[in-house]
Amino acid sequence: MDKVLRAEALITKGFMPPNEGDALYLAACVVCKTLPQLPIVEVGTYCGRSTVWLGAAAKKYRTTVFAVDHHFGSEENQQGWEWFDESLIDSATGRLNTLPKLLETLRRSGLTDVVVPVVGDSKTISSQWSKKVSMCFIDGGHGDQPAQEDYFGWAPKVALNGFLAVHDVFADPKDGGQAPFTYIYSAAIDSGEFIELSATGSLRILQRIKKPNFKD
Ligand code: SAH
Ligand code: MG
Repeated sequence: MDKVLRAEALITKGFMPPNEGDALYLAACVVCKTLPQLPIVEVGTYCGRSTVWLGAAAKKYRTTVFAVDHHFGSEENQQGWEWFDESLIDSATGRLNTLPKLLETLRRSGLTDVVVPVVGDSKTISSQWSKKVSMCFIDGGHGDQPAQEDYFGWAPKVALNGFLAVHDVFADPKDGGQAPFTYIYSAAIDSGEFIELSATGSLRILQRIKKPNFKD
Protein backbone atom coordinates (compact mmCIF):
# COMPACT_ATOMS: atom_id res chain seq x y z
CA MET A 1 0.00 0.00 0.00
CA ASP A 2 1.04 3.59 -0.65
CA LYS A 3 3.29 4.47 2.32
CA VAL A 4 2.07 8.05 2.58
CA LEU A 5 -1.56 6.96 2.76
CA ARG A 6 -0.79 4.31 5.36
CA ALA A 7 0.98 6.95 7.46
CA GLU A 8 -2.10 9.19 7.11
CA ALA A 9 -4.33 6.35 8.34
CA LEU A 10 -2.09 5.79 11.34
CA ILE A 11 -2.23 9.42 12.50
CA THR A 12 -6.04 9.57 12.17
CA LYS A 13 -8.09 9.26 15.36
CA GLY A 14 -10.09 6.08 15.54
CA PHE A 15 -10.28 2.45 16.40
CA MET A 16 -8.77 0.46 13.53
CA PRO A 17 -5.56 -1.37 14.55
CA PRO A 18 -2.83 -1.22 11.86
CA ASN A 19 -2.80 -4.96 11.05
CA GLU A 20 -6.58 -5.00 10.68
CA GLY A 21 -6.47 -1.88 8.51
CA ASP A 22 -3.92 -3.60 6.27
CA ALA A 23 -6.18 -6.67 6.00
CA LEU A 24 -9.10 -4.40 5.12
CA TYR A 25 -7.01 -2.74 2.41
CA LEU A 26 -5.96 -6.10 0.92
CA ALA A 27 -9.56 -7.38 0.90
CA ALA A 28 -10.72 -4.17 -0.77
CA CYS A 29 -8.01 -4.53 -3.45
CA VAL A 30 -9.03 -8.13 -4.17
CA VAL A 31 -12.71 -7.29 -4.48
CA CYS A 32 -12.06 -4.17 -6.60
CA LYS A 33 -10.32 -6.46 -9.09
CA THR A 34 -13.21 -8.98 -9.11
CA LEU A 35 -16.01 -6.41 -9.23
CA PRO A 36 -14.41 -3.31 -10.71
CA GLN A 37 -17.58 -1.37 -11.55
CA LEU A 38 -19.07 -1.37 -8.07
CA PRO A 39 -18.52 0.98 -5.11
CA ILE A 40 -17.50 0.21 -1.54
CA VAL A 41 -19.69 1.22 1.41
CA GLU A 42 -18.34 1.82 4.89
CA VAL A 43 -20.81 1.99 7.77
CA GLY A 44 -19.26 3.77 10.77
CA THR A 45 -16.58 6.21 9.67
CA TYR A 46 -15.92 8.32 12.80
CA CYS A 47 -12.87 10.48 11.92
CA GLY A 48 -12.00 8.43 8.84
CA ARG A 49 -9.27 6.12 10.11
CA SER A 50 -10.47 2.87 8.48
CA THR A 51 -11.74 5.00 5.59
CA VAL A 52 -8.16 5.86 4.57
CA TRP A 53 -7.31 2.16 4.08
CA LEU A 54 -10.47 1.65 2.02
CA GLY A 55 -9.86 4.91 0.15
CA ALA A 56 -6.32 3.81 -0.74
CA ALA A 57 -7.72 0.68 -2.43
CA ALA A 58 -10.47 2.67 -4.15
CA LYS A 59 -7.92 5.16 -5.46
CA LYS A 60 -5.71 2.40 -6.82
CA TYR A 61 -8.62 0.67 -8.57
CA ARG A 62 -10.51 3.85 -9.52
CA THR A 63 -13.69 3.29 -7.64
CA THR A 64 -15.57 5.13 -4.87
CA VAL A 65 -16.04 4.64 -1.14
CA PHE A 66 -19.35 5.88 0.31
CA ALA A 67 -18.62 6.56 3.96
CA VAL A 68 -21.84 6.38 6.00
CA ASP A 69 -22.06 7.93 9.47
CA HIS A 70 -24.41 10.36 11.26
CA HIS A 71 -21.24 11.65 13.00
CA PHE A 72 -22.91 11.90 16.41
CA GLY A 73 -20.89 8.93 17.68
CA SER A 74 -22.03 5.59 19.06
CA GLU A 75 -23.14 5.00 22.63
CA GLU A 76 -19.59 4.22 23.78
CA ASN A 77 -18.31 7.51 22.30
CA GLN A 78 -20.58 9.65 24.51
CA GLN A 79 -19.56 11.49 27.67
CA GLY A 80 -19.06 9.15 30.62
CA TRP A 81 -18.37 6.13 28.36
CA GLU A 82 -15.13 4.35 27.62
CA TRP A 83 -14.39 5.87 24.21
CA PHE A 84 -15.32 9.52 24.83
CA ASP A 85 -13.03 12.15 23.27
CA GLU A 86 -13.82 15.63 24.52
CA SER A 87 -12.00 17.31 21.61
CA LEU A 88 -14.74 16.06 19.26
CA ILE A 89 -17.51 18.00 20.99
CA ASP A 90 -19.05 20.68 18.78
CA SER A 91 -19.08 23.81 20.96
CA ALA A 92 -22.15 25.19 19.15
CA THR A 93 -24.34 22.22 20.05
CA GLY A 94 -22.49 20.56 22.95
CA ARG A 95 -22.84 17.34 21.00
CA LEU A 96 -20.22 15.06 19.45
CA ASN A 97 -19.56 15.81 15.77
CA THR A 98 -16.86 13.88 13.91
CA LEU A 99 -17.68 15.25 10.44
CA PRO A 100 -15.13 18.13 10.54
CA LYS A 101 -12.39 15.62 11.46
CA LEU A 102 -13.44 13.29 8.64
CA LEU A 103 -13.29 16.12 6.12
CA GLU A 104 -9.85 17.12 7.45
CA THR A 105 -8.65 13.50 7.15
CA LEU A 106 -9.84 13.26 3.54
CA ARG A 107 -8.27 16.60 2.59
CA ARG A 108 -4.98 15.74 4.28
CA SER A 109 -4.85 12.30 2.62
CA GLY A 110 -5.87 13.56 -0.82
CA LEU A 111 -8.91 11.28 -0.85
CA THR A 112 -11.71 13.83 -1.36
CA ASP A 113 -12.23 12.64 -4.94
CA VAL A 114 -12.45 8.99 -3.90
CA VAL A 115 -14.39 9.02 -0.62
CA VAL A 116 -17.90 10.47 -0.55
CA PRO A 117 -19.22 11.11 2.98
CA VAL A 118 -22.88 10.15 3.34
CA VAL A 119 -24.06 11.86 6.49
CA GLY A 120 -27.07 10.28 8.16
CA ASP A 121 -28.57 7.28 9.87
CA SER A 122 -27.39 3.96 8.46
CA LYS A 123 -30.87 2.37 8.41
CA THR A 124 -32.40 5.34 6.59
CA ILE A 125 -29.62 5.31 4.00
CA SER A 126 -29.61 1.54 3.44
CA SER A 127 -33.41 1.53 3.00
CA GLN A 128 -33.06 3.94 0.04
CA TRP A 129 -29.87 2.41 -1.40
CA SER A 130 -30.49 0.40 -4.57
CA LYS A 131 -27.02 -0.11 -6.05
CA LYS A 132 -25.07 -3.28 -5.42
CA VAL A 133 -21.71 -2.83 -3.71
CA SER A 134 -18.47 -4.77 -4.15
CA MET A 135 -17.79 -4.57 -0.43
CA CYS A 136 -19.59 -3.38 2.66
CA PHE A 137 -17.53 -2.76 5.79
CA ILE A 138 -19.74 -2.65 8.89
CA ASP A 139 -18.28 -0.83 11.91
CA GLY A 140 -21.25 1.28 13.04
CA GLY A 141 -23.43 1.04 16.14
CA HIS A 142 -22.56 -1.95 18.30
CA GLY A 143 -25.87 -2.32 20.16
CA ASP A 144 -28.17 -5.27 19.31
CA GLN A 145 -30.60 -3.18 17.30
CA PRO A 146 -28.12 -1.16 15.20
CA ALA A 147 -26.14 -4.34 14.44
CA GLN A 148 -29.29 -6.12 13.23
CA GLU A 149 -30.37 -3.10 11.21
CA ASP A 150 -26.93 -2.88 9.58
CA TYR A 151 -26.97 -6.57 8.66
CA PHE A 152 -30.51 -6.54 7.23
CA GLY A 153 -29.98 -3.15 5.61
CA TRP A 154 -26.59 -3.65 4.01
CA ALA A 155 -25.85 -7.38 3.53
CA PRO A 156 -28.42 -7.66 0.66
CA LYS A 157 -26.56 -4.90 -1.20
CA VAL A 158 -23.35 -6.96 -1.38
CA ALA A 159 -23.03 -8.33 -4.92
CA LEU A 160 -22.45 -12.01 -5.61
CA ASN A 161 -18.75 -12.71 -4.91
CA GLY A 162 -18.53 -9.39 -3.08
CA PHE A 163 -17.28 -9.00 0.49
CA LEU A 164 -18.98 -8.27 3.78
CA ALA A 165 -16.34 -7.07 6.25
CA VAL A 166 -17.32 -6.93 9.91
CA HIS A 167 -15.38 -5.24 12.68
CA ASP A 168 -15.37 -5.95 16.43
CA VAL A 169 -16.33 -9.59 16.07
CA PHE A 170 -15.69 -11.30 19.41
CA ALA A 171 -16.75 -14.92 19.75
CA ASP A 172 -15.92 -14.82 23.47
CA PRO A 173 -17.85 -12.25 25.57
CA LYS A 174 -14.68 -11.80 27.67
CA ASP A 175 -13.08 -10.06 24.68
CA GLY A 176 -15.86 -7.61 23.84
CA GLY A 177 -19.52 -6.90 23.04
CA GLN A 178 -21.43 -9.64 21.25
CA ALA A 179 -23.69 -7.74 18.85
CA PRO A 180 -21.42 -7.71 15.76
CA PHE A 181 -20.59 -11.40 16.37
CA THR A 182 -24.20 -12.51 16.89
CA TYR A 183 -26.22 -10.24 14.64
CA ILE A 184 -23.82 -9.63 11.76
CA TYR A 185 -21.06 -12.25 11.55
CA SER A 186 -23.06 -15.31 12.74
CA ALA A 187 -26.22 -14.14 10.96
CA ALA A 188 -24.28 -13.95 7.69
CA ILE A 189 -22.65 -17.37 8.11
CA ASP A 190 -25.92 -18.99 9.26
CA SER A 191 -27.76 -17.58 6.25
CA GLY A 192 -25.66 -19.86 4.03
CA GLU A 193 -25.06 -16.87 1.75
CA PHE A 194 -21.58 -16.02 3.03
CA ILE A 195 -18.37 -17.90 3.75
CA GLU A 196 -15.50 -16.68 5.87
CA LEU A 197 -12.35 -15.79 3.95
CA SER A 198 -10.13 -14.39 6.67
CA ALA A 199 -9.89 -13.29 10.29
CA THR A 200 -7.45 -10.62 11.51
CA GLY A 201 -7.89 -9.48 15.10
CA SER A 202 -11.60 -8.68 15.37
CA LEU A 203 -11.99 -8.15 11.62
CA ARG A 204 -13.77 -10.81 9.59
CA ILE A 205 -13.89 -10.84 5.80
CA LEU A 206 -16.84 -12.79 4.40
CA GLN A 207 -17.66 -13.45 0.77
CA ARG A 208 -21.14 -13.70 -0.71
CA ILE A 209 -21.49 -17.10 -2.40
CA LYS A 210 -25.29 -17.07 -2.89
CA LYS A 211 -27.73 -14.37 -3.93
CA PRO A 212 -29.76 -12.87 -1.08
CA ASN A 213 -32.82 -14.84 -0.05
CA PHE A 214 -34.77 -11.89 1.24
CA LYS A 215 -36.09 -8.91 -0.67
CA ASP A 216 -33.75 -5.95 -1.11
N1 SAH B 1 -14.40 2.80 11.48
C1 SAH B 1 -14.00 3.78 12.45
C2 SAH B 1 -14.69 3.66 13.79
C3 SAH B 1 -16.18 3.76 13.75
S1 SAH B 1 -16.87 4.07 15.35
C4 SAH B 1 -12.48 3.76 12.64
O1 SAH B 1 -11.77 3.04 11.95
O2 SAH B 1 -11.97 4.45 13.51
C5 SAH B 1 -18.57 3.83 15.03
C6 SAH B 1 -19.23 4.95 14.25
O3 SAH B 1 -20.54 4.50 13.91
C7 SAH B 1 -19.41 6.27 15.00
O4 SAH B 1 -18.74 7.31 14.33
C8 SAH B 1 -20.93 6.50 15.01
O5 SAH B 1 -21.31 7.86 14.80
C9 SAH B 1 -21.39 5.63 13.87
N2 SAH B 1 -22.77 5.15 14.00
C10 SAH B 1 -23.30 4.46 15.03
N3 SAH B 1 -24.60 4.19 14.80
C11 SAH B 1 -24.91 4.72 13.58
C12 SAH B 1 -26.09 4.78 12.78
N4 SAH B 1 -27.23 4.21 13.18
N5 SAH B 1 -26.03 5.41 11.60
C13 SAH B 1 -24.88 6.00 11.16
N6 SAH B 1 -23.73 5.96 11.87
C14 SAH B 1 -23.74 5.34 13.06
MG1 MG C 1 -14.62 -1.02 15.24
